[in-house]
Amino acid sequence: MTIPFVDLKCNSPKIRQEISVAVEQAIDDGQYILGDQVAAFEHSFAGFCGAKHGIGVGSGTEALHLTLRALGIGPGDEVITAANTFVATALAIAYVGATPVLVDCDPDDYLIDVDLIEQAITPRTKAIVPVHLYGQPVDMPAILDIAAKHDLPVVQDACQAHGALIGDKPLGAFGTAACYSFYPSKNLGAYGDGGMTVTNDDALAERIRMLRNYGQRAKNNYEMQGYNSRLDTLQAAILAVKLRYLADGNERRRAAAERYRHVLLDQGDISLPYEKPGVKHVYHLFVVQHPQRDELMAHLQQNGVQCGIHYPTPIHQIVSFESSRTVPEGVPVATRLASRIVSLPMFPELTHEQIDRVAQVIAAFDAQLAVA
Ligand SMILES: *Cc1c(COP(=O)(O)O)cnc(C)c1O
Repeated sequence: MTIPFVDLKCNSPKIRQEISVAVEQAIDDGQYILGDQVAAFEHSFAGFCGAKHGIGVGSGTEALHLTLRALGIGPGDEVITAANTFVATALAIAYVGATPVLVDCDPDDYLIDVDLIEQAITPRTKAIVPVHLYGQPVDMPAILDIAAKHDLPVVQDACQAHGALIGDKPLGAFGTAACYSFYPSKNLGAYGDGGMTVTNDDALAERIRMLRNYGQRAKNNYEMQGYNSRLDTLQAAILAVKLRYLADGNERRRAAAERYRHVLLDQGDISLPYEKPGVKHVYHLFVVQHPQRDELMAHLQQNGVQCGIHYPTPIHQIVSFESSRTVPEGVPVATRLASRIVSLPMFPELTHEQIDRVAQVIAAFDAQLAVA
């Protein structure tokens, strides 16, 4: 039995049918750039996220980039973010000419260590970009307290956290803006690239809208030097259908995580991810730790279990990121985690039988270790 890491194919005939109808509608409408289907999806996704405005852009990276640019962040500025994130978080900061300042993470929930943020703030700091890594929300009220004290905007990287909640509030209700990716493997994935910024700030929304469309306010009225970075209309049509199934998909991911916890608990040297009380984790990824990570991964692969590492290299150790810097204390937790973490298969259709099989394969590895 081979267990894939994710399964991106549309396995439901019902959803496939709805998507076909939506795509044909888009083809018939003939508005292939922006238009009604993009506006309708922006409206429904922003509402789902608890925000007033949604601005569909070309990718999650672009959502972060254009939001930082719309906030006027630029060369000489510093932006605080997590050391253990996907490279795109730091790329977006670098695109505007600012320096990513990397903060260490908590060893248990893997999220940026909120207690270390304040000491990373300097007179050059212009924003905080917390990352809701693996689908678990960062403590936004605590971050907003720090941000308010220093008068800093907070741009959330929510690219892994569609549908996550803090208490009963969606992420779009917090901070300056939240940025999402619709990369196919995300909890809400398109059949290509896409992204969106959601915000309650009217002026910010307007600036991002101009930036994504060459800097135009209206046709031939260029207010700024913008970009061509719009959410594709066909993708918006597909996403509008898939959004209706997101909550169900997230519940299935949570059930899969619960099954993993049940079958992996107290097993060998595996450390399970910590789920914080009071938040809804949407398990974009299920990330465990093991002291013999590389050997365990080889064993999983040999036994047909596909897995991954998110991420093998903290940002400041990526060669192209010589311009980033960590806080003076360094990022020992993120560095140590990078050699211990492994992401197990996780997608809504993952069955209990498949999860039990993953656990058996891990148990066999730990049994070998105990003998050796
Ligand atoms: C996927 C992702 C991004 C970038 O999204 P793209 O749509 O691939 O550009 C940014 N940050 C995080 C944490 C991500 O997981």
